[in-house]
Amino acid sequence: MNFDLPEEHRMLQETVREFAAKEVTPRARHVDEMEEFPWETLRAMGKLGLLGLNVPERYGGMGADALAAALMLEEIGKGCGSTGLIVAAHLGLACGPLVFFGSETQKQRWLKPMATGKMLGCLGLTEPGAGCDLRGTRTTAVREGDGWVINGSKMWLTNGAEAGLAILLCRTGDKFSHLLVPTDTPGVQFGPPEKKMGLHGSHTYAVSLEEVHVPAENLLGTEGRGLAQTLQVLDGGRIGIAALSLGLAEAAFDAARAYAKTRHTFGQPLIEHQAIAFMLADMTAEIEAARWLVYRAATLRDQGRPYTLESSIAKLVASEMAERVARDAIQVLGGYGYSAEYPVERIYRDARLMTIGEGTSEMQRMIIARQMM
Ligand SMILES: Cc1cc2nc3c(=O)[nH]c(=O)nc-3n(C[C@H](O)[C@H](O)[C@H](O)COP(=O)(O)OP(=O)(O)OC[C@H]3O[C@@H](n4cnc5c(N)ncnc54)[C@H](O)[C@@H]3O)c2cc1C
Repeated sequence: MNFDLPEEHRMLQETVREFAAKEVTPRARHVDEMEEFPWETLRAMGKLGLLGLNVPERYGGMGADALAAALMLEEIGKGCGSTGLIVAAHLGLACGPLVFFGSETQKQRWLKPMATGKMLGCLGLTEPGAGCDLRGTRTTAVREGDGWVINGSKMWLTNGAEAGLAILLCRTGDKFSHLLVPTDTPGVQFGPPEKKMGLHGSHTYAVSLEEVHVPAENLLGTEGRGLAQTLQVLDGGRIGIAALSLGLAEAAFDAARAYAKTRHTFGQPLIEHQAIAFMLADMTAEIEAARWLVYRAATLRDQGRPYTLESSIAKLVASEMAERVARDAIQVLGGYGYSAEYPVERIYRDARLMTIGEGTSEMQRMIIARQMM
């Protein structure tokens, strides 16, 4: 067993860390306060190849593995949760399904521009009446002539209106299938970005679909296998959210430790008070525990071994850890932790989503329990 990152992963980590320090972290507060979609950062990431990091090279990506993607999302998330979520959704939920299930033609047409950062993608599973239980999906896709006609609505699409392509889970007869829907197709109507607690730079949309016509070849994967395909996609997506959680927790910890070294009470720095030092010690321990769960899940995936259980464990532990660490970081900063002058209140708001998106904590516990039994 070797706990050192392979050399090329360490180099990638270093590169992304430097990029994040220069381009991501300094904009995070502005992105949050202005609810600004960080196009400039994303364009720069596209140029570096990070928006197609684990897409095969023949489709314009860098051909890196899941561990590399996890390291990248950890570093970007450490700089800015919004940017991290945009990239996690683009890579894991949009590029991912195309890599898994796309035909050669679909990959050439959609994956290439997405991997090279010319276009963002999104995945629409959730609906007003279907979240954890996707069997409640009401959006329909019906075969008509040489195409599909889609009617219904979707909720909470990360990247929705900013994306060029939406992958939508639709009811096809009594089963479910994925359809590729260019977002400029007539009948696709996005609402305004949802008002949310955090992740303000990552825009989330409801979309209505009225008589949306797409050609027959826009079926992604196998007709009727939409739910099974979704589970496969989410197995991978969970590692991304877990890595993002890790990054958020690290950022909160760094801010808390730095503050505790300089703020004095009762004649000594906060960090010299055992209550504060122990809080920081717990944060370190929890971050390290989660880190290895995340890297292990990614490594299992890269080795072609089963990783459903491990990615659920990593997501559950890392997301709940991130929330606790961010909460405690606010405590370390006292009143200043509650102020927007310091990053920890933003990180706390951003981290709150991690136990909900791409499978709630309750769903992770159900998956773990099922696998355990
Ligand atoms: C910022 C943000 C971004 C998102 N991005 C996307 C996206 O890009 N694409 C997309 O498709 N969706 C997206 N979502 C939606 C997200 O995946 C869902 O909110 C999530 O899956 C939960 O679904 P729900 O909100 O309908 O909750 P529900 O399914 O109604 O569940 C409500 C609560 O009940 C719990 N619960 C449900 N069933 C059970 C059970 N059997 N046992 C125990 N507890 C249960 C849940 O865990 C949850 O706590 C996003 C959501 C947010 C907030």
